[in-house]
Order: sequence, then C-alpha cells, then structure tokens
Amino acid sequence: MPQVTRRDFLKISAAGTGAAGLTALGFDLAQAAQLKQSFHIAGASEFHSVCPYCAVGCALVAYTKENPDGSIQLLQIEGNPDSPVNEGRLCPKGATAMQLATSARRVDNPLYRAPGSKKWQQISWDDMMSKLAQRVKEARDATFVAQDAAGNTVNRTEGIAFAGGAAFSSEEGYFAAKVMRGLGLVHLEQQARV
Ligand code: SF4
Repeated sequence: MPQVTRRDFLKISAAGTGAAGLTALGFDLAQAAQLKQSFHIAGASEFHSVCPYCAVGCALVAYTKENPDGSIQLLQIEGNPDSPVNEGRLCPKGATAMQLATSARRVDNPLYRAPGSKKWQQISWDDMMSKLAQRVKEARDATFVAQDAAGNTVNRTEGIAFAGGAAFSSEEGYFAAKVMRGLGLVHLEQQARV
C-alpha cells in the first residue's frame, strides 16, 4: 500500500475528495492528482502565517498568484497541516481569515476621530504615526515616575499599557517588549504566550 502522509491526505482531500475512487485509504491517488491540476490553487505560491484572532496561534497557509499586470492576488487561506498546533484545522473564525484581506468592508486607511467629534476622517499614515508618537510622548511625560514613595529609583511609565497579539512572531514580540520597556512601561501583556 502506498505511503500517504497526513499532508498528502489533506492536499488530496482539498483537491477533490468527493470524486476520488477507492484504492489506498479509500482514494484513487492518481485520479485525485489529476483533479488537483484543475484546482484553483494549482501553481500558486505558498506562504505561511499565523491566525491573528486568538491565543491558540493556529498556523495558516496562504496561496497567491501573480496576475499579468504584476499585482498579487490572494487565492485562498487554509490551516497548515504541518503545524503541531492545529494540524491543518481552523475554527470557524480562523476559517474566515481570508476576509481580513478581501472583505469589501475592510478599512485599509487610517481613520481619525478628533476628541468630541462624531465623525471619522481619513488621514495619511504619516499623520497617524505622528499623532501616535505625540500621544505616547504626552502620556509618558505626564505619568513618568522616577522614584517611588520609598525613594527607590524606578523610572517607570504608569500611564501607558501595551498588549501584543497572537500573530506576533517571536522576533516581533521581542522587539515590542524592548521598545516598551525602553519607554519605561511596566504594564505589558501578550495575548499568546507561546
Ligand atoms: S483558528 Fe480559531 S482557534 Fe485557531 S488561532 Fe484562529 S481563532 Fe484561535
């Protein structure tokens, strides 16, 4: 009997489970391979990522293709069968991860609502980054504590907290922690402690 890995099994299943005949493990592998040729991810580039929604940190595979005009089109996102975390599975929320990129309701520009205003206005990324930097500076200056009540040097910023997301890589988490500690933050939380 041919050896079929879990990854082979999931790929073949994705390519056309219902049409396959019965041989090894109940599938005609040659027929399934032919079906895969017509599958819409055939020839696509494969990229790995992590679901950003919760602390489980399920691994994703994103399939893309380059259009004739040079633009990159996202074809499909699915669970990564090689991941020991989710072994190819995704919960209903993670299974909608593709909508993060393709939803017509996706907001892809910074929106700013001034204090007291009921309206959001679109601003540039540069303007948004400047506003963020300004707010961080103001909050840090206003709440920085050099010494505690006992006279101990603490040099901490008590008016800002930071929360990291499940999609952080180890490097991003390390970088974020370094930056925040550098600002004197003591309130750091991470959604995924993996
Ligand atoms: S697929 Fe579901 S369980 Fe997995 S990380 Fe995403 S939201 Fe969490």
